[in-house]
Amino acid sequence: MRGESNYGGEAVSQLEHALQAADLAEQSDSPPSLIVAALLHDIGHLLHDLPEDAPDAGTDDVHEVRAARWLETRFPSSVVAPVALHVAAKRCLVAIRPEYLSNLSPPSQLSLKLQGGEVSGAHVAIVGGGIVGLAHAWSAAERGHRVTLFERNQPATGASIRNFGMIWPVGQPQGERFETALLSRERWIQFATSSGLWLNECGSIHLAHRDDEWAVLEEFHECAKQNGITTELLMPDEVVRRTPAANRSQLRGGLFSPYELGVNPRAAIPTLTHWLVEQHAVTLRSPETVLSVERIPHPESRLTLRTNRNVELQCDRVVVCGGDDLRTLFPETFAAAPLRLCKLQMLKTVPQPKAWSIGTHLASGLTLRHYENFSACPSLPALKQRIAAETPELDRFGIHVMAAQNDAGEIVLGDSHEYDDAIAPFDQSSVDDLILRELRGVIELPDWTIAERWHGIYTKSTQGPVFEAEPLPGAYTVTATSGAGMTLAFGLAERAWMRWPQLT
Ligand SMILES: Cc1cc2nc3c(=O)[nH]c(=O)nc-3n(C[C@H](O)[C@H](O)[C@H](O)COP(=O)(O)OP(=O)(O)OC[C@H]3O[C@@H](n4cnc5c(N)ncnc54)[C@H](O)[C@@H]3O)c2cc1C
Repeated sequence: MRGESNYGGEAVSQLEHALQAADLAEQSDSPPSLIVAALLHDIGHLLHDLPEDAPDAGTDDVHEVRAARWLETRFPSSVVAPVALHVAAKRCLVAIRPEYLSNLSPPSQLSLKLQGGEVSGAHVAIVGGGIVGLAHAWSAAERGHRVTLFERNQPATGASIRNFGMIWPVGQPQGERFETALLSRERWIQFATSSGLWLNECGSIHLAHRDDEWAVLEEFHECAKQNGITTELLMPDEVVRRTPAANRSQLRGGLFSPYELGVNPRAAIPTLTHWLVEQHAVTLRSPETVLSVERIPHPESRLTLRTNRNVELQCDRVVVCGGDDLRTLFPETFAAAPLRLCKLQMLKTVPQPKAWSIGTHLASGLTLRHYENFSACPSLPALKQRIAAETPELDRFGIHVMAAQNDAGEIVLGDSHEYDDAIAPFDQSSVDDLILRELRGVIELPDWTIAERWHGIYTKSTQGPVFEAEPLPGAYTVTATSGAGMTLAFGLAERAWMRWPQLT
C-alpha cells in the first residue's frame, strides 16, 4: 500500500498526513468539498514512479498537477481547485506571514525551493498571451514574482497558435542562438512532462533533390561536426526508412537533425496559459487590453498600467509582448525600430489514414536559402541563383516548403513570406498552389485533401532574433521573434530575466 509509505521524509505516512489534513479541515467547519480536498491534496505523490528521494535530487514531482489531472475526471471543481492550488497557496503564505517558513519542516522547506520559493512582493505585468508573453510569465513566476498576464483575446489568436508547432534548433546559427534554442527545447520538454501536453521528439530531415542542395547539406554537416552539433547525412534508402513521405524521384539524400520537437500550437498555447495559472499562480486577465503604461515618479515610483476594463494596476516591471501589434503601446519606440511585418500562408490536410506517420519534420532544398544557419555554406549563393533563375515566383512570394504532422495525424504545410506593404488582408490561392506544387515535388502523402487554409503575421527584426527595448525604466518591450518564436521564446525569456536587474 503506497499510502503507508513515508511522507516525503516526514515523521508520518502519506495516509496519516492525508487524515490529519482532513481532520483539521473538519475541525475548522470547512464545507464537505474542502474536507475531501484536504484528504486528497497530496494524492499526486502516489501517482508517479519517481523515487521517494526525488526532491533531494532536485526533482519537483509536480504532485499538485498530477493530482488535479487525476481528480478532474472523478470530482467536482470545488475539490479539484483547492488541490491544484495548494502549492501556490503555500508560496503565498510564506511571502505574507514571516513565521510560516520557519514552521515548515525541513522536507517542506526543500520542496518549497523546488516549487519556485516564496512569491515575492514584486509585481510583474506581462502584456500578450502569445508564446513570448507566456515564456516571460513563466520565467518571472519561477523567480517568485507575482505575475499578472493580460491578453486581449480569449483565447489568444496571434502567430503563436497559427504556426507549424516546430521547435527547430537546427535553423539557428551555431553559437549562442543555437544554445538559446536548446535551452528552449529543454523547457518545452519540462513543461510538456508537467502538463501532459503532446510533444513529439521527432527530429527533422532536410531533403535534397538536386546536386547543389546536397552540396550545401554536406558543407553544413561538416561545419556542425566541428562545432560539436549532431547531424547525419542520409543516403536515399535511409531517408525513406525514416520518413515514408520522402519523394524518391531524384532524391539525392537528406540531413537528419535530432534536436527538433513537434507540438500542436492550438493546444500548446492554451495549455501553457492554464498551466501557468494553476502551477505558477499567474493571474490571467483575459479578454483585457492594456491601453497605456506610465511611470508616475511620485510617491512610489511604480509603473501604472491601464486597461479597457478601467483597471489601473501598479507594478514593478512590465513586459510588453504584443507580437505584431506595434501601435497600441509605445508606438514611437517601434516606429524608430528596425522592424518589418511578415505574412505567411499555411495549409493543413485532413488526418492521414491508417495511423500513417510522417516520421520526422520535413524541409526541402528551398529551405536552405531561408534559415540563417546555412548562410556560412560556400555552395549556398549558387543554389540561390539557380532557384532565382528557374523559379522567380518562389522568391517573389518568399516560398520555401516544410511539413509537420500533429497529434491528430494532420499534416501542417507551408509557407510563404510577404512583407509590409505587400501584406493583404486576403489570401491568394495562387500562393497556396505554388506551395503545394513545390511540396508535391519533394514529398508524397497518402491523402492531400486540404482541410484548412489560414495566414499568420509576425514581426521580424532586421538586426537579430528579437527586438527588445526599455521605453520607460522597468518597462520592456519584447517582440519580433520572427519565424522562430516557438523555437526561441523560452530561452530568450530566461536569458532576459538573468540579464535584467533583479526585482526584490
Ligand atoms: C504561419 C506561421 C508559422 C510559424 N511557424 C513557426 C514554427 O514552426 N516554429 C517557430 O519557432 N516559430 C514559428 N513561427 C513564428 C512564431 O509563431 C512567432 O515568432 C511567435 O508566435 C510570436 O509570438 P508572440 O508572443 O510575439 O506573438 P503573438 O502570438 O502574436 O502574441 C501576441 C499577443 O499579444 C496580444 N496583445 C497585443 N497587444 C496587446 C495589448 N495591448 N493588451 C493585451 N494583449 C495584447 C495579442 O492579442 C496576441 O495574442 C511561425 C509564425 C507564423 C505566422
